[in-house]
Amino acid sequence: MTDRKSELAENLARVEERIAAACAAAGRPREEVTLIVVTKTYPAGDVRILHGLGVRHVAENRDQDAAPKAAACADLDLTWHFVGQLQTNKVRSVVGYADVVQSVDRLRLVSSLSAAAGKAGRELGCLIQVALDAEAGGRGDRGGVAPDGVEELAAALDEAPGLRLAGLMTVAPLVGEYAGRQRAAFDRLMDLSTALRVNRPAANMVSAGMSADLEDAIAAGATHVRVGTAVLGVRPKLG
Ligand SMILES: *Cc1c(COP(=O)(O)O)cnc(C)c1O
Repeated sequence: MTDRKSELAENLARVEERIAAACAAAGRPREEVTLIVVTKTYPAGDVRILHGLGVRHVAENRDQDAAPKAAACADLDLTWHFVGQLQTNKVRSVVGYADVVQSVDRLRLVSSLSAAAGKAGRELGCLIQVALDAEAGGRGDRGGVAPDGVEELAAALDEAPGLRLAGLMTVAPLVGEYAGRQRAAFDRLMDLSTALRVNRPAANMVSAGMSADLEDAIAAGATHVRVGTAVLGVRPKLG
């Protein structure tokens, strides 16, 4: 094995142990939780190594980095998740490679994604990103719609050709009432998910938890955790 391959294999094994332990502690079967490795800032070569180690879900947050990386890995059976704030002028590019957009947070993005998915002849999974620290009617600093805006976006997604509402996503807030209270934040996301699923049972993805707080997310009921640093290492400071 190359040095990088053994490093990634060791990191991945450690993350896998954490996920398994968190599932066991929560009384949940391991298969209920999908690991998504966030490969942002790392090269396509790392994605290829991770695929060789069994990873099938990867995530990126900037189209300018993600588009060439996805193209370089087009021969691999990978599910690509887009998790960054998404400008409408990048939508056409993102729809070209993403299977799931986890950061849907405004009506204009719904119409733009729907138009692009239609043109590309693709069906795109969409998660509504919830900003638990946003004021009613607003959006968070780091993207996401306030909890009271979820239903309006869900209704728009229900009607949008080419888009499939798959569930909810959040990033634990750094400020506000949930700062430092990841478990409470993820419990709140689960309540919103329960409400959403009353009329939309298929929208059952709950994407929450990162390197530092994946245990809290799994305890709360997350179905997908998004892990970067703990697998790939500390990112060079840029995005
Ligand atoms: C970078 C990123 C992650 C991964 O964060 P780590 O702390 O490196 O595990 C997860 N979710 C989103 C939206 C991200 O931008």
